[in-house]
Amino acid sequence: KIYWKAKVMISVVVPVYNELPLLSELRARTVKAMESAGESFEIIFVDDGSRDGSLQVLMEFHREDPRLKVIELSRNFGHQSAISAGLEQANGEYVAVMDGDLQDPPELIPIMMAKLRSEDLDVVNAKRATRGERLFRKLMANLFHYVFSRLSEIRSHGSFGNFCLLNRKSLEALRSFPEEGRYLPGLRSYMGFRQGSIPYDREPRKAGRTKMSAGRLLRLAADAFLAFSHWPVKLCLSIGLLGTMICLVLAIVKITQPGVSSVLQNTELGAIALFMLGFVQLTFIGILGEYLFRTYRESLRRPVYFIRNRYLG
Ligand code: UDP
Ligand code: MG
Repeated sequence: KIYWKAKVMISVVVPVYNELPLLSELRARTVKAMESAGESFEIIFVDDGSRDGSLQVLMEFHREDPRLKVIELSRNFGHQSAISAGLEQANGEYVAVMDGDLQDPPELIPIMMAKLRSEDLDVVNAKRATRGERLFRKLMANLFHYVFSRLSEIRSHGSFGNFCLLNRKSLEALRSFPEEGRYLPGLRSYMGFRQGSIPYDREPRKAGRTKMSAGRLLRLAADAFLAFSHWPVKLCLSIGLLGTMICLVLAIVKITQPGVSSVLQNTELGAIALFMLGFVQLTFIGILGEYLFRTYRESLRRPVYFIRNRYLG
């Protein structure tokens, strides 16, 4: 039996989607940070279907320095899929995941490394102490993490994003999740193992605009919620039961005290109540439909990404 043998000490996985203006700074800072750690490393850029020439620049990086590697995906698959592709190709004993827009400072990786080793951890999460984003985005992100940490089945979840360091054991665990709708920070929390965190200030994007549109963020939030809690279903059930109970009480009151006026005596209010009931039912059917759709999508077992080219040698 052949056991896996690390080819480098640290792999850094960096998803890249149309980040041309900041690639050279990204390269310079990341290489410098990793060299300062004094260990062998590789940086795996995952080109997630860029259309601005990022890929050509990344390939040039690879020709100049073989420690910089490139995986070219067949099209844009999205942030989580791009990271998954990089994790699959990582050869390191340890693997760091970092965004390619320098919002995650590469200088933190050696510090995470030291913490992981000195405290015998399996995962070090970079915890966003401050966020360099627009106010609205910041509020939405904070709201998401607040609600998620309360309603999800994951108890240990902090304000973690994708910036993290994994050892081989936890990497293998993270790789073994088969789902297509993946929210990696949630999966990481779910895994368990010994996890620690380091607070950092999330800088504003160095150049370009966010690639995560409101729609994409909402989808990610839905992936997170529906995968890690079943409160939408519980909510439907609770409201249904509560409504049934209230109606039962009203009916009893109506039967025992015929004189009591009620909503139903007012035809307009009665009609509104009926309409509302219809819409509440439609909403709940929608929630069920969302689960059904997701069950269907997962049942297709489609690959999360396709690789067009690898520049790893
Ligand atoms: N990204 C990607 N594929 C996508 C969207 C984003 O690989 O479809 C990369 C992007 O290049 C960046 C990282 O994922 O390196 C985070 O994206 P972004 O900064 O736009 O998201 P935000 O920080 O605003 O959440
Ligand atoms: Mg960003």
